[in-house]
Amino acid sequence: MATLIASGERKHVVVLGAGPAGLTATYELLKHDVPVTVVEKDPLQVGGLARTVEHKGYRFDIGGHRFFSKNEEVEGLWTEILGDQMLTRGRLSRIYYRGRFFAYPIKAANALWNLGPVEAVRCLASYARARIQPVKNPRNLEEWVRNQFGWRLFSIFFKTYTEKVWGISTKELSADWAAQRIKSLDLWVVIRTALVPGRKSGRRGEIVTTLIDRFRYPRLGPGQMWERVAEISAAKGHPILLGRSVEKISHEDGAVTSVTTRTADGGAETHRGTHFISSIPMRELVAKLEPPAPERVRRAADSLSYRDFISIALMINRADVFPDNWIYIHDPGVRVGRIQNFKNWSPDMVPDQSKTCLGLEYFCFEGDGLWSMKDPDLIALATEELGRLGICSAAEIFEGVVVRQHKAYPVYDDSYQEHVAVVRDYFATALPNMHLAGRNGMHKYNNQDHSMMTALLVARNIADGSPLDPWKVNADAVYHEDIRVGERDGTGRLVPERVSAS
Ligand SMILES: Cc1cc2nc3c(=O)[nH]c(=O)nc-3n(C[C@H](O)[C@H](O)[C@H](O)COP(=O)(O)OP(=O)(O)OC[C@H]3O[C@@H](n4cnc5c(N)ncnc54)[C@H](O)[C@@H]3O)c2cc1C
Repeated sequence: MATLIASGERKHVVVLGAGPAGLTATYELLKHDVPVTVVEKDPLQVGGLARTVEHKGYRFDIGGHRFFSKNEEVEGLWTEILGDQMLTRGRLSRIYYRGRFFAYPIKAANALWNLGPVEAVRCLASYARARIQPVKNPRNLEEWVRNQFGWRLFSIFFKTYTEKVWGISTKELSADWAAQRIKSLDLWVVIRTALVPGRKSGRRGEIVTTLIDRFRYPRLGPGQMWERVAEISAAKGHPILLGRSVEKISHEDGAVTSVTTRTADGGAETHRGTHFISSIPMRELVAKLEPPAPERVRRAADSLSYRDFISIALMINRADVFPDNWIYIHDPGVRVGRIQNFKNWSPDMVPDQSKTCLGLEYFCFEGDGLWSMKDPDLIALATEELGRLGICSAAEIFEGVVVRQHKAYPVYDDSYQEHVAVVRDYFATALPNMHLAGRNGMHKYNNQDHSMMTALLVARNIADGSPLDPWKVNADAVYHEDIRVGERDGTGRLVPERVSAS
């Protein structure tokens, strides 16, 4: 294997992607005086999935981004970068179902009241039936949740939203996810929480994570955080190179030597480095290696899949549309999954307080019917659905814009862990100066704090040889020495998985 750094050669790191992971690594490397080149395919802005898009003075996220972490170092970093620009916000998010708003997290009294006496009695009867005659050994999500809440409550509060997000029937999703994720929210806990004001703990005293009711948020949206890091990097002589899509990753004698990027006008540039950090999707990273990776590595990378996402921002000529930060749309009659009200995240997300900007979120797969619709048709769909939900009329909407987001969610299917392990081990052994970090970079369906922590560790490994392994950062962004890499390792957020064939 080649010596990675020729004697006397200065370290120089090439970072692929300027999202939270790439920019956190950059920020940390610059603290250690290690020079960096950051290449980002977006021609206009940094921030990746956590960017804030601006349209005629209205700012919106690709999905609302709460800043909340159990990792104090990450929380500290956010404060260090943005100081008093970080707001602390109260959380209000409700569920919308058939013309009514339900408290989220679900409160028993509120739910029964909203359902009305007839439906409430039906739900209680269905709950009683489920307790008396539970499905033995529930295998799919539908059976598991039905056992806990009864079929009627399941169909109102779980079925439609889960199916919108994952694009799969709840009968085909494994029960494991629900069993671990919803365990502390069984109906008795919900009733106790409703009856005892201020009570927030689940069984064994743990905080029920879905009940967190305060979070931080940059005054101008999450993109402000990453735009600030880009400014700091530029001020230190390392401007982020926008509009550079990684086309080729060259390697020789067991080390990556350079990355070639292409600009929209077809211009190619080659960036040489001693170390490389990739936060671009694993599947793309492997496909761009030259010479190509061994076939089994290419096959593993090609097997990784993603769920995509469309955000449609509509500007409304009304000051107050609803008080929530966001609303989950469980109503089966519309395709929208969630609606954000960005003004309620921060008032400065709109240029005029007499107006509102809503973000309607549609979960999809690249190339499916929704993804392929023309922008005016998507805006018409979103407008029509807002009207159908009774949120506002078409006449009140004066502007709309569509943002399509490729690879918003890395998919956790039956075999993703094996495939990720093949790719990870290949880079660790065959090309160890290429380090993987971040969400799609490591194929981990996690929040910004996790992406940032993995990037911090990678940057420190390069800067001063720190031995911490980024694959041992768990879903809460906390480093866990005892995680056995490559097993069902607990470093990814739990998501529903398909029922296994056995
Ligand atoms: C709908 C939604 C809601 C979310 N809500 C929250 C939340 O409330 N709180 C939270 O903390 N997190 C949230 N997240 C997660 C958060 O957005 C991610 O964890 C974070 O952005 C991951 O950072 P990253 O740098 O690893 O990846 P990314 O943000 O994906 O950045 C990767 C970068 O690489 C670039 N890139 C890709 N391919 C190439 C290429 N070939 N050449 C050059 N550049 C390339 C991309 O353009 C991008 O800028 C949410 C995500 C989504 C989709």
